[in-house]
Amino acid sequence: MRGLCVNYGHIEAIRDISFNVEEGTIATLIGANGAGKTTTLKTISGLRKVRAGAIIFDGKDITHMPPYERVLRGISQSPEGRGCFPGMSVRENLDMGAYTRKDRKTPAYQQDLDRVFDLFPRLKEREKQPAGSMSGGEQQMLAIGRALMAKPRLLLLDEPSMGLAPKLIAQIFTIITEINAQGTTVLLVEQNAAQALKRADTAHILETGEVVRSGTGAELAADGSVKAAYLGGDV
Ligand code: ATP
Repeated sequence: MRGLCVNYGHIEAIRDISFNVEEGTIATLIGANGAGKTTTLKTISGLRKVRAGAIIFDGKDITHMPPYERVLRGISQSPEGRGCFPGMSVRENLDMGAYTRKDRKTPAYQQDLDRVFDLFPRLKEREKQPAGSMSGGEQQMLAIGRALMAKPRLLLLDEPSMGLAPKLIAQIFTIITEINAQGTTVLLVEQNAAQALKRADTAHILETGEVVRSGTGAELAADGSVKAAYLGGDV
């Protein structure tokens, strides 16, 4: 991201944001409500128009590329609020994640499906269940699984721990680490700063649309002002 600015009408949602996500790492964006985290992810996905600045992915300028082409290039997102298709089964939701793939009848596709079911055995158990009847945590797993079915090189996760019980939060973060260990680069937006900083190679603090601090996850987790503002008594 190079000097990225995004507006909603006259509101400047993000202003002059620059940061890198290195291949193979987990990067996280931390910030209060309204700081611009979701807007940043939507802009990388191509769902928001850029007013100024550029997004470079794998050496190519994708700033004005349509969203579906970004998926083809390897960017896929699990959105805030999960966005599962409620009337479709778990399996159909996963297949929708692979909509742009042409290899859906091949063993490679089945392998990717198996990988998602290995990461989330609950989805395998409920393959035929309508997504709308799944619990919040199960729908979160489904949203991440669906994003993985696009075979992303960069996985964007918007608040994957939102609304989940503590035990499930820990499980989701373990799975995110596992997804990264299997070779997928991750950009994670989180309000659960303690968990996110623990897992992240690099972290950026967003305040009212601007990056105000960057560092390794460990550096920011140890920083007094970050602790006071975002970690409470958590760490
Ligand atoms: P949260 O943690 O609450 O989800 P966030 O950091 O993801 O917040 P954004 O959703 O990116 O923040 O919002 C950034 C700013 O842009 C906020 O001031 C918000 O009110 C504004 N905004 C977001 N979406 C819209 C929209 N569709 N129309 C107008 N303003 C919007």
